[in-house]
Amino acid sequence: MIITILLFLIKVRKVSSFYRNLLLLFYIFNIQNQGMTMFKFVDIHTHNINSTNQYAIINLKLNDAQDRLDLSKHEYFSIGIHPWDVHRVESEMIQMLEKLAFNRKIIAIGECGLDKYSVATFEAQMEVFEKQIIISENTQKPIIVHCVGYFNELINLKKTLKPSQAWIIHGFRGKPELAKQLIMSGFYISYGEKLNIQSVKITPLENLCIETDESSVPIQEIYKNIATIKFCNFQDLGTSSTLFEFNEC
Ligand SMILES: [Zn+2]
Repeated sequence: MIITILLFLIKVRKVSSFYRNLLLLFYIFNIQNQGMTMFKFVDIHTHNINSTNQYAIINLKLNDAQDRLDLSKHEYFSIGIHPWDVHRVESEMIQMLEKLAFNRKIIAIGECGLDKYSVATFEAQMEVFEKQIIISENTQKPIIVHCVGYFNELINLKKTLKPSQAWIIHGFRGKPELAKQLIMSGFYISYGEKLNIQSVKITPLENLCIETDESSVPIQEIYKNIATIKFCNFQDLGTSSTLFEFNEC
């Protein structure tokens, strides 16, 4: 409505050029604002359990998950076993995860993966990761991957398993050479507050996701920063919204 009135006033010749320019500026500002409110600033991974962003995928801890799922409205979550917790895993936890993963509010599996600083052995981490990959495939939900120091193993695993679901490397800060390798192997790469500018530059928009993780910087700011690096509009950074099922729940 306001846009129509502005357009009408801009077109009316009687308005002096000074006011026309002023109106024009106001019009552009309004259009931009409208874009800001309509665009889905998907935050593919956050630990902020109080996030007010409607399109944030909040990472839940296995033990608190059921209560949060029962109470929540219009919220989306991911659930998984972090490689740092693998040494504490018992078979009931996997069974709990298998059950919870089918909940409509859970739209991604993870964060899970491989980390060379975990106290668990590589073999134990691989076993728990592979179980979560099966859950991701069975539920048809993308997987949010945490990987530190095991990228070759991860790339080989994806080549062997040929999963149907998206594998998103979260919180990527690696060099462009590694980013290139991951992209060639069909991974999605998610960037947050701290990132390698050169890696962002070489990541195609269709492979690029955005997250806050543990940062308190608003997701909109992270989108703007990445848009500046990519010389594009934040509206061009919409890949994440196509990867997840943001069904009303
Ligand atoms: Zn995280």
